[in-house]
Amino acid sequence: MSAPTREDLARLDAADPLAALRDAFDLPAGVIYLDGNSLGALPRATAARVADVVTRQWGEGLIRSWNTNGWIEAPMRVGAKIAPLIGAAPHEVVVADSTSVNLFKLVAGALTVRPGRATILTERGNFPTDLYMLQGIEALFRGAVRLKAVAADDLPAAIDADVAAVVLTHVHYKSARRWPMGAITRLAHGRGALTVWDLSHSAGALAVDLNGAGADLAVGCGYKYLNGGPGAPAFAFVAERHQAALRSPLSGWMGHAEPFAFSDAYVAAPGIRRQLCGTPAILGLAALEAGVDLFAKVDMTALEAKALALGDRFIDLVEARCGFAGMRLASPREAAARGSHVAFAHRQAYAIMQALIARGVIGDFRAPDLLRFGFAPLYLRFVDVWDAVTIMREVLESRDYEHERFGAFSAVT
Ligand SMILES: *Cc1c(COP(=O)(O)O)cnc(C)c1O
Repeated sequence: MSAPTREDLARLDAADPLAALRDAFDLPAGVIYLDGNSLGALPRATAARVADVVTRQWGEGLIRSWNTNGWIEAPMRVGAKIAPLIGAAPHEVVVADSTSVNLFKLVAGALTVRPGRATILTERGNFPTDLYMLQGIEALFRGAVRLKAVAADDLPAAIDADVAAVVLTHVHYKSARRWPMGAITRLAHGRGALTVWDLSHSAGALAVDLNGAGADLAVGCGYKYLNGGPGAPAFAFVAERHQAALRSPLSGWMGHAEPFAFSDAYVAAPGIRRQLCGTPAILGLAALEAGVDLFAKVDMTALEAKALALGDRFIDLVEARCGFAGMRLASPREAAARGSHVAFAHRQAYAIMQALIARGVIGDFRAPDLLRFGFAPLYLRFVDVWDAVTIMREVLESRDYEHERFGAFSAVT
């Protein structure tokens, strides 16, 4: 495809059925934000929602608000609002803890419903916390469980009769490569294994269809495309057919059938609520709910189409206008095999990204040599893609990035 002009992109914005959603966000002037896949932007409604929970619900309602302001139901209520975004039923999703902790709970739970199978299978190069949590489970089971991490190409053949759970990130955090969820799930089921999907880089950007794919378990992040704010609580999905059998290893009182009976013995709550552990983080849930509410009328198929179209235009423009500088596409070119971000490799990736950020184009760097650009389809415009690539071209032409101030690493990249 030949590269579009800025006018072509302005026409796409004019025809974009989702364009009005941008007004629901408080985006700073002078910034093109291409990092909504790492920390989503601030919805305009969030500050007032959180302030209400603090001053009225907490300040005036005090402990009564657990009942009168729906605090105790918030994990299930917000989970039910996330459900349609990921192809789940409302009673199959709950908001709790972090993605890391939810992964621990569900993978350990999967092991208990596949007795006699000792292998957890994952992809080498999966997101670090996913690998680390699985290593933690392996250590905890002291020889009874084995973690096997294989190259992506070798994964389908590695699903054998000893695999209890196949644990994969749907869209890879670096390359944006997308696993075919239905095909992998069918393969896993054919060999008697469960699937656990990490939707951190797909929920809120793609039309995820967990039940359509026959998926068993899933986790995902609240602060990326769901715009729940820094450190927002995460979500967990347990397909209805597994809910009765899947015990949480973190059997805290909020997952008890009757938390306020204060009995000594743990009895798991029916349904998805047993995946709760301790007292829900109400302030974080309030911010997450404000982010999730923006999806209420969004057609996820249209949202995914926009996300991928933004990425397609970006790839075409970077190659056409910045190709001279040795930018190498590090994501699948084919949209159907990609998520909502695009990575380019360059030997000077870190310094180039710092120079871009200094000019208001915020993406991020992923070691060792990737520039990563996220296209959050709720609030980005097609002309933003043009303008970002124009600034990238300026940075590359001027070799601005060679300035030493762009070489110093910060704690968070
Ligand atoms: C962002 C992300 C996480 C985040 O986990 P936390 O527990 O919130 O730190 C986990 N997995 C993947 C694949 C991610 O992209």
